[in-house]
This record gives sequence, C-alpha cells and structure tokens, in this order.
Amino acid sequence: VWNNCLLFIKDNIQPQAYKTWFEPIVAVKLTDNALSIQVPSKFFYEWLEEHYVKLLKVSLTKELGETAKLVYIIKMENTYGNKQPFTEKIPSSNRSAVKSQNVDVPLNNKNPELRNPFIIPGIRNVKIESQLNPNYNFDNFLEGDSNRLARSAGLAVSAKPGGTSFNPLLIFGGVGLGKTHLAHAIGVDIKDKYPEKTVLYISAEKFTQQYIDSVKKNNRNDFIHFYQLIDVLVIDDVQFLSGKSGTQDVFFHIFNHLHQNGKQVILTSDKAPVDMQDIEQRLLSRFKWGLSAELQTPDFETRVSILKNKLYRDGVEMPEDIIEYVAKNIKSNIRELEGAIISLIAQSSFNKKEINIELARQVVEKFVKNTKREVSIDYIQKIVSDYFQMDVDTLQSKTRKRHIVQARQLAMFFAKKFTKASLASIGSQIGKRDHATVLHACKTVDNLSTTDKQFRKYVEDLTKKLSV
Ligand code: ADP
Ligand code: MG
Repeated sequence: VWNNCLLFIKDNIQPQAYKTWFEPIVAVKLTDNALSIQVPSKFFYEWLEEHYVKLLKVSLTKELGETAKLVYIIKMENTYGNKQPFTEKIPSSNRSAVKSQNVDVPLNNKNPELRNPFIIPGIRNVKIESQLNPNYNFDNFLEGDSNRLARSAGLAVSAKPGGTSFNPLLIFGGVGLGKTHLAHAIGVDIKDKYPEKTVLYISAEKFTQQYIDSVKKNNRNDFIHFYQLIDVLVIDDVQFLSGKSGTQDVFFHIFNHLHQNGKQVILTSDKAPVDMQDIEQRLLSRFKWGLSAELQTPDFETRVSILKNKLYRDGVEMPEDIIEYVAKNIKSNIRELEGAIISLIAQSSFNKKEINIELARQVVEKFVKNTKREVSIDYIQKIVSDYFQMDVDTLQSKTRKRHIVQARQLAMFFAKKFTKASLASIGSQIGKRDHATVLHACKTVDNLSTTDKQFRKYVEDLTKKLSV
C-alpha cells in the first residue's frame, strides 16, 4: 500500500522534495484501514502535516478508500529517552477524506481546513522511558543524621511533585554519598504514586550529549519539545554543565517552561550552588529558588547500618566486629564502604578463607591505599603530553613555543600538586629545569586559570584525568 502511495506522491512533487521528505519514512503496519508510518522526528511530522497533508490524504484514499487513516509514529532517534526509542503516536482522523483525482497541492498550504480533518491534535500518547533504576529506592536508602534533611525533602517532593516549595530540589554532596541513589528514589516513588506522570532521569553529561547531537542534526527544537513534555525531570550531576554555555542556555529555557507549568525538577550536584563555577548567574539563581539539601558524610552508626542492610539484602552473614572494623576505617564514601565489603566477601569465598579481622585489615588497607595512591611525575608528564597531543620529549624540550611552554608549566603544576616531590626534583625530572622555573610555572598556572577560561578548562580536564 505504502509503495503505491509513494509512486503516486513521487509523480506529484519535485524529486528533491520526495527524496527529503518521503524516502526517510518507514511504513510500519497496516491494520484495518489505518496505515502507521514512522517519521524521524517531530519536526519532520510537522513539516509533512504542513506541506504534504493533502497529497498524503489523496494517495492514501486512492489505496484504502474513504475510511483510510494515517497514524504517525515519531521516532526520537534513540537519543532523548535513550535505550528504547521514544515513540509518540498521533492518530489522525478520517472524517473527510478527499476524493479528488487531480492533485494540485500547494506546497505551503496552511489552510487549517485541510489539516484538521486529517489529524486530531491534542491526543498524544506519549511514552517516555523513565530510565529509573528500581534498585535505588527509599526502602534501601537508610536514614541518618547526615542525610535526614535531604531524604525528607525528597519524600515531600515525591508525595506532591511540583506541589511543594522545593522546586527545584537540589541535592548536593561529595562523591559516593548517595546523590544518585536519592535522586532515583524520588523518581521511583513518584512513578509508584503517580503512574500517569512522565518521569525522566538523565545525567547532565548525557543531556549535554543529546543537546550537542540535536544541534548537529538540526533538531534543537525537537530536543526542547521533548523535554517540555516531562512532568518530573531529574538531572544528575549538574556541575557537569559548568562552562557549557549552550547547554546551560537550553536548560534554562526548559527549566523555566517546566517550572512555570508546575512540573517538578530535581537536580544533584557535587557542590553547593554558591561554590559552582562557570554556571550562568541566571541559572544559579534558579537553582536557589527551591531547596538545596546537603548529603554529608555519614557518621559511624549510619555507616554500620548501611553495611548491615546491604549484607542482609544480599543474604550474607558477617561477624559484628568485622562490620565495625570496616565502618570505622572507611569514612568518607559510601560506595567505597560497600566496595570494601563486597571485596571482602569475594576474597573469602575465592580463597576459601574465613572472614576474620586479619583479612578485613588487608582488604581495607588496599582500599584506603588505592584511593590515595600517589601519581608519579612520569605519569603526569605522560597524561599532560597525551592531552595536548605531543610526546614527552617535546614537552621537555627547550622550545619557547607557547603551547609547549604551557603544557610544560601544567605538568610542573600538577607535579607540585599531586606528588610530594620538591620543586628542585620536579624541575630536574621535567626537562632539567631549576626550582625557580617550577615555582614560576606554578604561579603562572594559578594566574592563568583565574583569568583565562580556556586555560582553566585545561586545568579542570587534567585534574579529572589525574584523579581517577
Ligand atoms: P553519589 O551519586 O553521591 O556519588 P551514589 O548515589 O552513587 O553516590 O551512592 C553510592 C553508593 O552508596 C550506592 O551504591 C548507594 O546505593 C549507596 N548509598 C548511598 N547512600 C546510602 C544510604 N543512605 N543508604 C544505603 N545506601 C546508600
Ligand atoms: Mg552520582
């Protein structure tokens, strides 16, 4: 059926227009008298509706008779909701199928008479995969002094999404303290209580990637529309947006739209709003509209109960003193706390060793050491020269070319920052310079990273690379 329609359409429009607007369409199915076609984007669908609706109608009527129906399925390019392609089904009506034989379609026909009968606007059957992880819920998010405020704010929000003054709710705190877990828990609870609400969890990094893709593919508007459909938007790690002004700009618009329409926004960040850098002022001020709740490092009791809960859920038994030993020695990161316990269980079952304090000591020691391992000056030089796509010899050379000098100064700066080596020793290892040169390099990097945006980006990127 669709092929016949295409033949007819092809005869009636310019070849280029046919190629652009009809070749990408995929006929999906035909049930009764309804043909479903898949189009690549919402924009695409709107264009078809605006310019080719009559042509489509005539061709379809010729094939299927007057009761013909057309259903558009909009494919969101597997990006915005990710994993499952997001599809939006828009049924169109058949109320007044046209019987005309000689088709003379004005290409920019905006006559609503022609558009309306073919589509029922407003009936949108939107399905968006929420991307929530059901394993991160309130039941297994244990309460303690360190998270009480954030947790109860989360519960208040999930009881009445968009209906509290906690909008946006910003959860902030250090690495591994439960931001992602709590953000999912709120979303999961909302989905539970309000199944009809559209909830979406997305990391700021993925959001940025989608935005960049949408600009590349010329469908920035689709991107914005997609996000404006959402009732509860959870964006994880918003500090990632720092310095990315295009993404911040688009997020600002989406945020305003959602907020004005009483939709809930939940954000997480590794910093409090006052400490966020390179985020536009207008966005920061929005972040402060609602509530900022901190996740602090958990106290000893909370750490113990988190571990016990985890063991209980995994069906593993462990002596009390071992649990306490681990909780006493790993303090500042719940992910590591859990990691140590998992590794302890693995060690004991793998080596058929009994879990005792000695084994616990070994495991914990490894964990603590691993996370504090020192990077070497060689390693720093390698990372910095890779980053600037030069080799280490170039980095060390005597040249005065600006970008090489900068790379060298950065290497010295990080050597000072990340190792215990003396200025003199750093100088001698990075191209046989003296300690004054190294000192000068450190000062230069400090200065440049406050005055030069690009340079600050280098420092941030390299800090990240060197910290993992
Ligand atoms: P963040 O996003 O802040 O880096 P995560 O949310 O990824 O941290 O949490 C790290 C780990 O710690 C996860 O496995 C999470 O389930 C666990 N966790 C954090 N807080 C709690 C808590 N209050 N109760 C139980 N588990 C927690
Ligand atoms: Mg996280």
